[in-house]
Amino acid sequence: MTQKPEKLIDKKGLRLDGRKPEDLRQIQIEVGILPNADGSAYIQQGKNKILAAVFGPREMHPKHLALPDRTVLRCRYHMAPFSVQERKSPAPSRRDVELSKVIREALEPSIFVDYYPRTGIDVFIEVLQADGGTRCASITAASVALADSGIPMRDLVTACAAGKADDTIVLDLNDTEDKKGNADVPVALMPNLNAITLLQMDGILTLEEFEKAVNLALKGCEKIYTLQKEALKAKYMNVKEVKE
Ligand code: ADP
Repeated sequence: MTQKPEKLIDKKGLRLDGRKPEDLRQIQIEVGILPNADGSAYIQQGKNKILAAVFGPREMHPKHLALPDRTVLRCRYHMAPFSVQERKSPAPSRRDVELSKVIREALEPSIFVDYYPRTGIDVFIEVLQADGGTRCASITAASVALADSGIPMRDLVTACAAGKADDTIVLDLNDTEDKKGNADVPVALMPNLNAITLLQMDGILTLEEFEKAVNLALKGCEKIYTLQKEALKAKYMNVKEVKE
């Protein structure tokens, strides 16, 4: 176990990893890395390493879960046993089940579900390494994987958290800040539609602090949105180059 650091913010106002309060971690997104999937994406956000794979729309199994007028979106968020320092049981934990649900609910509004009646879309999220904020990084990657699969979408969903470390509102908390900090506010956004699809809060904030955290998280989402679009473009630019 890591010892509780004396302070999460130093005298210069910098965080333990050297970031300013409004800085995101380093983010890299790659698209289409699993040929067996209909769409896939890999994200590294700081020390988080997460894979998202999309299958479908395809025939629904078990069949009785199919709906006559729309597709059914299913999400499975799973942390690998080696993704955290102490081995995590590979069986789905209560947290895995909760995160699978909130991730599905964050992604679903972006999909035209009535285009594919009686089918299912499966989204598998494998967290290979976790360092705080994995639900948001998972949403970001899964949305890119959905776009890569060619499913018609209203917009990409971009997610980012903000929270409170010591007395400062900070963007994109890492694991230490998440655990030792006072609050964490994950937000998911469809930036083009300006619609929030996930808003949670863990911890205690005043109303002013909450508003500041949400606004900071939304600014983070805007930056990540650009990276998502660049990652998608990069894949299709490569396809074009190969054909020429
Ligand atoms: P999020 O990853 O979305 O921030 P949580 O706030 O529940 O979700 O988790 C914060 C962090 O705690 C995770 O990103 C991960 O680094 C760590 N964590 C989660 N589950 C475990 C576990 N079973 N063992 C050790 N660390 C964990």
